[in-house]
Amino acid sequence: MNWPLQIARSCSTEYSFRPMTQAAANIAVRCLDVVKSYGEAAGRVQALRGIELEVRFGELLMLVGPSGSGKTTLLSVIAGLLDPDEGECRVLDHNWQAMDRDDRARFRGRSIGFVFQAFNLLSSLTASENVAIPLIINGASLRDAQERAEQALERVGLGARASARPGELSGGQQQRVAVARALVHDPKLIVCDEPTSNLDHVTGGQVMDLLRAHAQAADRALIVVTHDSRIFSYADRIAYVEDGAIERWTESEAGLNG
Ligand code: ADP
Ligand code: MG
Repeated sequence: MNWPLQIARSCSTEYSFRPMTQAAANIAVRCLDVVKSYGEAAGRVQALRGIELEVRFGELLMLVGPSGSGKTTLLSVIAGLLDPDEGECRVLDHNWQAMDRDDRARFRGRSIGFVFQAFNLLSSLTASENVAIPLIINGASLRDAQERAEQALERVGLGARASARPGELSGGQQQRVAVARALVHDPKLIVCDEPTSNLDHVTGGQVMDLLRAHAQAADRALIVVTHDSRIFSYADRIAYVEDGAIERWTESEAGLNG
């Protein structure tokens, strides 16, 4: 089986973390005056217009807003997948702009888990092989990665489907595989782009329960982009994004009560 080797070969296994500074100790993500445009001249679209944002450790922050308001762009800047035109994002006390491409890939692979709207599972791999990918990237042995991937699938209620390929699973099951993959390497930051938009209410609730349980730790944080009002109650805080800016913040009932 050579898929893990191919992935591992393209990624180094070593990454050393700098200690957190005192000032940043309870802040997982800090964005300062982030500006981002796409295109040129008349076709230019200003997607982010000076975003100021902090995500605390232990919280589930939701970014909510209409389609086209800049949510995915902001998530991409936070995850170091897209460079802002101005401003900066510090994530887990790392500044993306100060890292080269390889450092970014290693840091992202170790510290960030992703859940995408479209699941983004590899169709030729089984559920457990998909879930094992972040562990392989981080240098785990194949045996260890497979064992931990199977445990992660158990936790999302899919232990019995570990050998199934994505095409053999329902949309809700595929999204749960994607959640297992995002959590399997125990990342400090999880970012989710519309994680429930393809799911019915019950399955969406199950996915949010799993994500929230992971975020409720003093050294973890979760950012969920959504316009699915059915899941707003899971948030500790909600930032309302409109036309590339955060228009207002609310502390949700979950946050106030919890
Ligand atoms: P949301 O996720 O809230 O729907 P996006 O961040 O995807 O919003 O998009 C914000 C704005 O930037 C929209 O006007 C969108 O059309 C534009 N946009 C997003 N990605 C690109 C791109 N790759 N090229 C050009 N324009 C883009
Ligand atoms: Mg989007």
